Amino acid sequence: TSKHTASLNQTLEEVLGMVGEQFKKQGVQIETDLDPDLPQMEMDTNKIKQVFMNLLMNARQAMDGRDGKMHISTRYMAQDSLARVIFWDNGEGIPEYMQDKIFDPFFSTKRTGEGTGLGLSVSYGIIREHGGEIIVESRPGEWTRFVIELPV
Ligand code: ADP
Ligand code: MG
Repeated sequence: TSKHTASLNQTLEEVLGMVGEQFKKQGVQIETDLDPDLPQMEMDTNKIKQVFMNLLMNARQAMDGRDGKMHISTRYMAQDSLARVIFWDNGEGIPEYMQDKIFDPFFSTKRTGEGTGLGLSVSYGIIREHGGEIIVESRPGEWTRFVIELPV
C-alpha cells in the first residue's frame, strides 16, 4: 500500500467528477453534503477511490429505469476521531437475507458480464486495511445506504 495524507472530501469529489456527466445523462441526480471540518487523514487515495467508484456504480445499476437519486455525505465525528461517509440511493434495495452475503467474493445478482461480484468484497478489504468499517442498511424497494467509518 502507499498511504499518504489526503483529503477524503477531495478524493470523493475527484471520483464524482469522473462519473458526474454520465450519471446526469442517465437521469441520476447526485446530491452531496460534505463536512468542511473533516481534517486530512492517512489513506491510499487510489484504493479509496476504487471503493467510492464501486459504490457509485452499484447504486446506478440498482436504479436502472428509475428516477434515480443518490445522496452522499461526509461527517467528522470529532469525539471518536472518525470520518463517516454515507452513500444513499433510492434504487431497488437489498432483501434482508442477502445483506450479509453481498460482501462475499463473487456474490452477485447481476447477469454474467454485468458484474463479477468482487466490488464489495474488494471494497471491504480496502476499508479494513485502513482500520475502518463498512456496513449496509436497506429497505427493499425503497433505498440502500452504505456507511463507511475511517479513523482520522
Ligand atoms: P457486482 O456489482 O459485480 O454484482 P458487488 O460486490 O459490487 O458485485 O455487489 C454485490 C451485490 O450486492 C450486487 O450484485 C447487488 O445484488 C448488491 N448491491 C450492491 N450495492 C447495491 C445497491 N446500492 N443497491 C442494491 N443492491 C446492491
Ligand atoms: Mg459492483
